[in-house]
Amino acid sequence: MSYDDQNIFAKILRGEIPNKTVYEDDHVLAFEDIQPQAPVHVLVIPKGPYKSMNEFSAEASDAEIVAWVRAIGKVAEIVEAKEPGYRLIVNNGEDAIQEVPHLHIHVLGGRRLGRMLQ
Ligand code: IMP
Repeated sequence: MSYDDQNIFAKILRGEIPNKTVYEDDHVLAFEDIQPQAPVHVLVIPKGPYKSMNEFSAEASDAEIVAWVRAIGKVAEIVEAKEPGYRLIVNNGEDAIQEVPHLHIHVLGGRRLGRMLQ
């Protein structure tokens, strides 16, 4: 599937739109969500042009995959400095109502989040 390089996260990665960076390395950027749903709400994205988990898992290099997972862990540590526990969410594709077509994982925490799945 083609990657839309005009999506908002592509613009953030190119520095065309400002962001509040929490963590960055060669392969990953983590930044604060503009509409936080919890006291801490960070998005962790690979820098490569991957729209979905499907594409990322199939096409990304081992180094990119390792960097993304490790970055999620680092951000989780930052979140847990406030309160124990956090939630990870990936909205992937149409039925999951993915708004921004660049793979991202939400890291939410800083308060008791309530039950999501029954
Ligand atoms: P999705 O529904 O999983 O695709 O989530 C997209 C997320 O991106 C939402 O939580 C938005 O609040 C967030 N978002 C959209 N634009 C920006 C931005 O410019 N900076 C930071 N977060 C953004």
